[in-house]
Amino acid sequence: ASGYSLLRNPHHNKGLAFNDKERDAHYIRGLLPPVVVNQDLQVKKMMANIRQYVVPLQKYQAMMDLQEKNERLFYKLLIDNVEELLPIVYTPTVGEACQKYGSIFKQPQGLFISLNDKGRILEILKNWPEKDIQVIVVTDGERILGLGDLGCQGMGIPVGKLSLYTALGGIRPSACLPITIDVGTNNEKMLNDEFYIGLRQKRANGQEYAELMNEFMSAVKQNYGEKVLVQFEDFANHNAFDLLAKYSATHLVFNDDIQGTASVVLAGLISALKLVGGSLADHTFLFLGAGEAGTGIAELIALEMSKQTQFPLEETRKKVWLVDSKGLIVRSRLDSLQHFKKPWAHEHEPVNGLLDAVKAIKPTVLIGSSGAGQTFTKEVIETMSSLNKTPIILALSNPTSQSECTAEQAYKWSEGRAIFASGSPFAPVDFNGKVYVSGQSNNAYIFPGLGLGLIISGAIHVHDDMLLAASEALAEQVTQEHLDNGLIYPPFTNIRKISAHIAAKVASKVYELGLASRIPQPENLVAYAESCMYSPSYRNYR
Ligand code: NAP
Ligand code: MN
Repeated sequence: ASGYSLLRNPHHNKGLAFNDKERDAHYIRGLLPPVVVNQDLQVKKMMANIRQYVVPLQKYQAMMDLQEKNERLFYKLLIDNVEELLPIVYTPTVGEACQKYGSIFKQPQGLFISLNDKGRILEILKNWPEKDIQVIVVTDGERILGLGDLGCQGMGIPVGKLSLYTALGGIRPSACLPITIDVGTNNEKMLNDEFYIGLRQKRANGQEYAELMNEFMSAVKQNYGEKVLVQFEDFANHNAFDLLAKYSATHLVFNDDIQGTASVVLAGLISALKLVGGSLADHTFLFLGAGEAGTGIAELIALEMSKQTQFPLEETRKKVWLVDSKGLIVRSRLDSLQHFKKPWAHEHEPVNGLLDAVKAIKPTVLIGSSGAGQTFTKEVIETMSSLNKTPIILALSNPTSQSECTAEQAYKWSEGRAIFASGSPFAPVDFNGKVYVSGQSNNAYIFPGLGLGLIISGAIHVHDDMLLAASEALAEQVTQEHLDNGLIYPPFTNIRKISAHIAAKVASKVYELGLASRIPQPENLVAYAESCMYSPSYRNYR
């Protein structure tokens, strides 16, 4: 290849970091100014550039441009500045990017598979240049963050998630494949937007939808084998639960909105209980929102409680209550409930709003997972605080605009007593002369390490016990010092170490369950996980 095209290949380009020997060997001499710099200086320069932008979306675009020009520098930047850049490449900014994806769209990323491609999906997979794929993140764009149906423009999500698989979990970028399935959109704004990039039609559903998904899942297995991890992302709940149930028997599938969320929140709760005391079974949980996140978390809590107490799942579920848009989920509503809500229809008289549900159930833990913002009102948090010395309050809805309450409101209305974490990040809060740092229940703590653990063990199925292992591994990374500061999650700065630890625990569980295909089991799984992780440092080209 010519030097000119080497400089334009994002997988190989090093920009000014090509040294003199490399410039000679690869016909680059003269195509770059004379100076040779190291990668650290390039990181410093890019960060200075990015910090000049005030608008987060501009920072996002600068990051995407970098990914298209110099992949290793992009990952180096992301890894070295993870706390600063995570909110840019992921929630909240990625949400805005999806809403405007059609207008800011420059280079296509990932694979687009639409209804028009029925019968040709295998052919499309073969158009992707990389053959050795380990992780696919796929969306149909119907429930992007808490922003709803963004159709084909949901592509920002698989792209962003996979960049975290690489940066935080050390999966090689070339082994990652983002895919958007376009079956139309019901979002009128998109349908009427002249810059919309997807099919201009209402969403397909029923048999037409199922057939396309089935062709897709078959083609994936045929092309990449049974060990490729398929992560379902931001599907609406009327499809998400069914897809997960259907394909978990035949594929290595994982739904981050249901399972990843559950695992990260359970980890936070295990930490929080170290602060407030008692075991899971001593607590009562109330959710606002009974969709993928809410019922997913609820189920993992009940499962862990059942393992701890030896009580059957049917019993431990009774410690967990959920409120949806029609009020508290109770037995009398059973017949009209979607199937994933049915296990939570406990015996109780009907209750309408969240405030009344808090008063009736008297939870010790309140979790928001409805996607509706400002729903943890002053009255709700004051009631939680009158019921509990240390209320645990998690406002998970994303992006920031949809958060149930802000960190400041949680601390102010609880007189500084709440243990608070949120889905999107909040800055530290100064209240009554004390600084409160809240945690972020970010799925990015879990899925990269979980994925790495599945890959290094050659797992062929995901099992709930692996999610529990991931939760425990994450909770173990929270030190007494973090807890003393009210933090129920570790800082993101150490995330690669955390991911390796999670990967090791997950892999160990995969072996224990007999679901591993990589035999024999490595002796030191943490060291092995670390040795498998991608490094963004430049390679030397002789
Ligand atoms: P989902 O499956 O669509 O579920 C939403 C649920 O909230 C449904 O049960 C819905 O009720 C209920 N709901 C909506 N508006 C409500 C309101 N005003 N009052 C009461 N209930 C209401 O969505 P999801 O996948 O669970 O995601 C929900 C939110 O969680 C999103 O904002 C997402 O970004 C966030 N999330 C956060 C994390 C994290 O922090 N790590 C992870 C995953 C998801 P009906 O069933 O009656 O319609
Ligand atoms: Mn998601």
